[in-house]
Amino acid sequence: MRIHAIQTGTVSIRPNQREGQGTGYDRLLHTLTDRGWTEPLPIYAWVIEHPEGIIVIDTGETARTAEPGYFTPWHPYFKQVRPRVTPEQEIGPQLHTLGLRADDVRWVVLTHLHTDHAGGLYHFPKSEIVISRRAYQLAAGFKGQVRGFLPQHFPTWLNPTLIDLAPRAWGPFPASLSLTQSEDVLIVPTSGHTEAHMSVVLREGGLTYLFAGDTSYTQQLMLDQKIDGVSLDATSARHTLQRIRRLAEQTPLVYLPSHDPESVRRLEHKTPAIIHPTIQHMRVPAEV
Ligand SMILES: [Zn+2]
Repeated sequence: MRIHAIQTGTVSIRPNQREGQGTGYDRLLHTLTDRGWTEPLPIYAWVIEHPEGIIVIDTGETARTAEPGYFTPWHPYFKQVRPRVTPEQEIGPQLHTLGLRADDVRWVVLTHLHTDHAGGLYHFPKSEIVISRRAYQLAAGFKGQVRGFLPQHFPTWLNPTLIDLAPRAWGPFPASLSLTQSEDVLIVPTSGHTEAHMSVVLREGGLTYLFAGDTSYTQQLMLDQKIDGVSLDATSARHTLQRIRRLAEQTPLVYLPSHDPESVRRLEHKTPAIIHPTIQHMRVPAEV
């Protein structure tokens, strides 16, 4: 199965968003008042060439963010982000470069509906768009705009498959839903960065890949259990990071958050978040 990382430009954010400072609403305040900038961080979307059909996870950002007035002008959060995306960096043209067509994508799964994950949605009018029912409700209308989403830019044709994750535990996660018949691609709940945030699990070749959206901005922050500076529900965010680390302790887990500059290298080298000495030890003789 081929897995591709597609980088749809970069975004700079406030350092206090990447790693939250303080507790409660102070954390958000520290993000909104931070005057520093991170280096430009990648905005990744992911493509799995699965035997049951092409799966896209998140759609990255759109070059239209450079147009004046694209961001909700009265919303304070948009002064805290600096995206840089060219039209050629959008997911549609990049799929083309890979020899794939957006129209042939069977499923598009959105981890959440922030613009740097949903901005490329308009490339996929023929695909089944899979979104958490709760996340979709929270992003809709004026209240969605207040929450920092851009529902005014969702494609007019958007008629997503809204999902509720069944209380069918998988690993450390209390719920899950299989996307594929073969049950090797699962959607799991990873609330925190946003309410009803989801991640996608792929089990292949003895490895587990976690396409994690914005559960953390780097792998190290996940291992250190440090939540970001915009999660409103800190308890959920902590539970999510605990579950991901537990999963990494149980199985070789390739952790792929959307803005970690190291994600693409980990995907290429299949580097697990935690090295399992016993598994490594068992593998060596098998390969000799
Ligand atoms: Zn986000």
